[in-house]
This record gives sequence, structure tokens and C-alpha cells, in this order.
Amino acid sequence: MLVVMKAQATEEQIGAVCQKIEELGYRAHAMPGAQRTAIGITGNRGEVEPGTLDEMPGVQELIRVTKPYKLVSRDVKQENTVITFAGTDATFGGPGLAVIAGPCAIENREQAMAVAEQVCRAGAQFFRGGAYKPRTSPYSFQGLGEAGLQIMAEIRDKLGMKIVTEAIDNESLELVEKYADVIQIGARNMQNFSLLKRAGRARKPVLLKRGMSATLEEFLMAAEYVMSEGNYTVILCERGVRTFADHTRNTLDLSIVPAVQRLSHLPIVVDPSHGTGKRNKVTPLSRAAIAVGADGLIVEVHHEPDRAMSDGIQSLYPEQFAELMKQVRQIAPVVGRTVPGIGIHSRTSETLPAQSGVRAAISPSA
Ligand code: PEP
Ligand code: MN
Repeated sequence: MLVVMKAQATEEQIGAVCQKIEELGYRAHAMPGAQRTAIGITGNRGEVEPGTLDEMPGVQELIRVTKPYKLVSRDVKQENTVITFAGTDATFGGPGLAVIAGPCAIENREQAMAVAEQVCRAGAQFFRGGAYKPRTSPYSFQGLGEAGLQIMAEIRDKLGMKIVTEAIDNESLELVEKYADVIQIGARNMQNFSLLKRAGRARKPVLLKRGMSATLEEFLMAAEYVMSEGNYTVILCERGVRTFADHTRNTLDLSIVPAVQRLSHLPIVVDPSHGTGKRNKVTPLSRAAIAVGADGLIVEVHHEPDRAMSDGIQSLYPEQFAELMKQVRQIAPVVGRTVPGIGIHSRTSETLPAQSGVRAAISPSA
């Protein structure tokens, strides 16, 4: 059930409706929009009895949400969710594209710093790197743990980059929440419901990767788990799904970008590194991801990919990443986007012409 408030409803009226919903034993999620506030109701097993809410001051209408996902849905919030970060112009879901780059894993301080400096210089505002690695083999490098998080915190202090790193269980999430700016939930954990709920109680944005064989609905339901606990800052990430095709590691499903944007207000970024598993496919698929309307990219980069402890064969050399950024800057204005963060010494937004008409043309309602 969704309570749509009148455009002129006051804060007090919105508060009173939320309080009433909680008194009825449900959870209220107020979603302010440009036109009006909508209040999502969760925690109900069956129909919510509309009577009491219907008559409250400021209420325009009550709508039954028939889809299984509610808070992620555009029914609840029509405008795109824009996630911002204090002290920078980096956003997810705004006109500026979010570019996350860095190695698969943090291996040591020198490696992480070398890669971070180069991707920052090329224009990435977010630095990625795993301190907790979900590996297929228990004998493979599992990550540096908290020491890896400390290295990333140092990179943030030195370069001003925002840190994106994966939590693989409730214990690591505790630490990732403390050190990182964005908590990554990996493909293998997309349906780890207790981890999703814990991430929903965190006070940092969550980058949720699509499970290897997850349908669109399962993907959105995973985001719903996070939001249902009160964390509304979720970034979806397409990273390829398992198919019969064996020319790539996974099949990057770019069609999910407009499909998500039609149904949900949440931002979605694309990971062409895990999505293809092949270095020579990362740049072409990055171009395609921006062209299809993704809100950003997450790309693996290593200064010595041949010696990388994980995912070397899909990691770009820093020069290739710089070239990728150049190409992204050319494509971005065509789809009405900008590329903020032009390098290590300047954190101001690059002033590329915004073509709002084109943005509208790719909007989900189109
Ligand atoms: C990663 O980002 O390094 C990673 C393990 O990704 P995924 O969960 O998509 O496999
Ligand atoms: Mn990886």
C-alpha cells in the first residue's frame, strides 16, 4: 500500500500519517518527491485496512502496490534517486556519471596507491578494491581484511577519492561500514538475505551487484530487502550473468539498464570487467554501457595485471583506463550526461554541455 500525500501536505501531516502507520504495526517509508511525498507501507502480511489513513489530513489517495517490490518501484518515487557525497560533486543517478576504478583486490599499499593515483588522474572519483574477496577456491587469496580497508582509507585521505569495497558477511560489513563510502554486496551474496538486511541498517550507500543468474525481479527484490530496513541509498550494478556463451566469462546484459530504469528510481551502474572477463572487451562494453544510459561504470585496473592476485586478465592497464575515460567523455554529452572529476589536482566538474532533451529521451517513462 502507498499513501500519496497532497502536493501542499505539511511536514506535520506527513509525520502524523507515518505515526499512524507505525501504530497500526507496520513500517512507514516517507519518500519525498518533487511533486509530492509518497509513503510506502511495509510489514503488512495482507491488505492494509485503508479506512483510518484515507481520512487523515493531507492524504490525497491510497494506492495498492501490486508489484512484489515496493520501495524500489517508481510507483513509490517517480524521480530518479540521486546519491550524493559530502565534499565532492560525485553522484550516482545525477547528470554526472559515476566512475569507480581500481584493482580487483587490495594486495599491498604500494600496489593500491600506484593504481589509485593513476585512475584518479584519469578522472575516476571512486576507488574500488576488495579487502574481503569471495573466491571460488578456498586456497586463492582471500584479501587483506581490515589492513586492506586501512589502505583504502589512506587513499581517500591522500587523493580525495571515495571508497567502494565489498562486504561478504555481517562481520566484514561492520568494518566496511566504518571505513568505506559505499558498501559493495557481491553477485554471490545478492540473495544473502541476512546480509542484505544488515546492509539496510547501515548508514552508507550500498552497491548491489546482480546475482549470476538473477532475473530482473529477483535483482529488484534484493534491493527491496536493503530498502525495507530503511537504507534508501542503493545503487544497482549489472555485472553479467551466466549463459551458454563461452567467448566471455559472463554475458553482460546491457538491456537490464533501461529495464531497471523503467521500473525503478534507483541508479544503475555497469561492470564491464566481470561482465566480460576479458581485457579487450572492457572498453567497448564501457562505451555501450554509457550509451545505453547507465549511471556509471565500475572497472578493474591494475598497474601490473600479469602479477595481479585476482582478475588480472580482465584488468585494464592504467593507460587503457585513461583512454576509456576519454571515450566516455565523448559519449556522455550525447546521452545528456557529464563526467565530473577531471584529475588529481582538480575536483571541479568538467563543463560539458548538458543535453537535457536527450536525457529525457532515454528516461524510463519514454
Ligand atoms: C568484484 O567486484 O571484485 C567481484 C567479486 O564482483 P562480483 O561480485 O560481481 O563477482
Ligand atoms: Mn574481481
